Amino acid sequence: MLVRTRSNSIFSNHTNDGDDDYEYDITPVSTNSHLMQYLNRYETYEYSEWVEYGILPSPKNFDNLSESICSLCGKEDQNAMHYKYFSGCTPESERLGYNICCLCKIKFELVIKSRAEVIWDLLNNKNIKYFWAPRTRRDPVTSQRIYHGPYTYDKWRPISNYVSYMTDSTKGYPGVENTPFIFCSMENQYEQQNISKLIPIVDILKSNYNACINGKYDTTYDPNIDDPINTLKLPPDAKIILNY
Ligand SMILES: [Zn+2]
Repeated sequence: MLVRTRSNSIFSNHTNDGDDDYEYDITPVSTNSHLMQYLNRYETYEYSEWVEYGILPSPKNFDNLSESICSLCGKEDQNAMHYKYFSGCTPESERLGYNICCLCKIKFELVIKSRAEVIWDLLNNKNIKYFWAPRTRRDPVTSQRIYHGPYTYDKWRPISNYVSYMTDSTKGYPGVENTPFIFCSMENQYEQQNISKLIPIVDILKSNYNACINGKYDTTYDPNIDDPINTLKLPPDAKIILNY
């Protein structure tokens, strides 16, 4: 059995050929009765957190889930729906998701929406094929990540509308899982290689805010001209609102 632990500080020295800044340790753990007891207790704990407070557990590996048991409340439902939710850049994350019973469905959709509230109109609009987001800034010689200077913006599309929380030491409190991210893939016409990464919601908000300012997505807008992550000052309650 595999247990995933996240070590995703952006100060990690790990660099890979993609554009992501996150690495995952996959720790093999032997299956024994103590562990199973612990996992069962933990599942029960997660079910009650969901039922009482609407706290969404992390997506689970479908291979370990019973198809007819709701991942959120633990109840049996032969017609449970299966939602695939990408939460990171590893092959393991492609197998993650939720089985959801019909009673949890509406609450689940509300929670998913509220986690991405400020960019929800952008994420969920079928007419919008891409949005802008910044490329990770790296030193051209050493490839080390850099934390200052202008951004280059590219076109991306979300792989799912699931928000995962990660630690980003450039935002909020260092060392605390503080930043909501969306897993995105680059909309790239020129390169064969498929690049995907986790992009902070706040960066997507700023990169696209001016394109949406009139309630329609302005496809002529290019954030490479005004570098909004560095220049745009938004009120704390700013969100993207589209009228269609
Ligand atoms: Zn349920």
